Amino acid sequence: MKRIAFDIGDPALASRGGCVTIGGDSPVAVQTMTNTHTRDIEPTLEQCRRMASAGAQLIRLTTQGPKEVESLAEIRRRLHAEGIYTPLVADVHFRSDVAMAAARVADKVRINPGNFAQDHEEACARFRELIAVCRQCGTALRIGLNHGSLGQRILSLYGATPTAMKEAVMEWLRMCVEEDFYRVAVSLKASNTRVMVDAYRLLAAAMDEEFGCRFPFHLGITEAGNGDEGRIKSAVGIGALLREGIGDTVRVSLTEDPVNEIAAGFKIVEAAAMDFDGPVNAADWEEFIIRVAVRFGPDLLDCKTDDCDLEGSVVAGVPVAKADLERVKDILLQACRRRFTRPEYIACPGCGRTMYDLEGTFNEVKRRTAHLSGMRIAVMGCIVNGPGEMADADWGYVGESNGYVSIFRGKEAVARRVPQQEAIDRLLELIEKS
Ligand code: SF4
Repeated sequence: MKRIAFDIGDPALASRGGCVTIGGDSPVAVQTMTNTHTRDIEPTLEQCRRMASAGAQLIRLTTQGPKEVESLAEIRRRLHAEGIYTPLVADVHFRSDVAMAAARVADKVRINPGNFAQDHEEACARFRELIAVCRQCGTALRIGLNHGSLGQRILSLYGATPTAMKEAVMEWLRMCVEEDFYRVAVSLKASNTRVMVDAYRLLAAAMDEEFGCRFPFHLGITEAGNGDEGRIKSAVGIGALLREGIGDTVRVSLTEDPVNEIAAGFKIVEAAAMDFDGPVNAADWEEFIIRVAVRFGPDLLDCKTDDCDLEGSVVAGVPVAKADLERVKDILLQACRRRFTRPEYIACPGCGRTMYDLEGTFNEVKRRTAHLSGMRIAVMGCIVNGPGEMADADWGYVGESNGYVSIFRGKEAVARRVPQQEAIDRLLELIEKS
């Protein structure tokens, strides 16, 4: 099967990290995304510098309007002046005019064309215009569609299913093929590993059958959370696909310092290429849990096995303690949707749309809800995408505007404009009363 490949960035700068090839037989590229406000140039620059020195091969920035496009251009100019050439990706939602402006200054633009307009024909027309700009400027595109952001038209045809995700992307890819535009990667992320893996598999099969070739896949689990849970969940979904040859670039979304995503990403890519046999040995704890998840996750996820015997070491010759192995196993079985023994947390990584201390709040919510086994609790950075993206959460804590939070029960907002300092108490009160 032919696998499409293209360069992102300037090939003349390849030896200095300024160009990455996505797809074909190229190594899987690891990327991340800033969580600063892109308009705040200094903190964003500083984060980009740290990401580049940690090995990020692509850096994505929130680009919600014309001001952010200008900031992105300035950030790119200043990074180049410092000798940092890592390709930059503009993350654009809703506005095709912003996507087109961003395509003139970024190396790649991430969009979901379905939300360019309510009317499908209008969205198609805008998408074709964007392709024309990308062709003219040599800019790559990612069609990034999440389980939680499917349009009404597709939902009414297929429901919120992996098939719906696959069908939605195939519509846009057909247009790319008609336009003879192949500088396109695709992503179909979900916070549910089962849904995510099924969606990518369906899409790979559909591309093979209809196009006879594969566009590059960007893999990721959305709203994976943080700590061991976030890493294990990401390693299960991304690792399962990489092991079967699906995946050209990855992002591990963590509700943490985004620089941490890069080492985790490389460790997943490395583990997916390993032949495992015997105990899982690793150089550090992160590597250990990722290797465990990549080794046992795929079979658990596909119900080829019901259990796993964990053993291994992170210090040569010293076995990992039994209690730690049990904890990892509980997290792994839950990540694979096989056994639920703890609350299920859905937390976005935050981005330039986040209006509060997401990581601190998420850790506090986790601390105070640790007893609610089986409950699905979302902590989301913004009201624009948060409610849609929190998937099937029972409860949601969603940043509304500076200093205020909305609390959701399922899809319904049950408390609005709750001052942030009272919001966790309010969430717990509402859960208690329900
Ligand atoms: S939910 Fe909002 S704040 Fe969180 S990552 Fe998505 S767009 Fe950014």
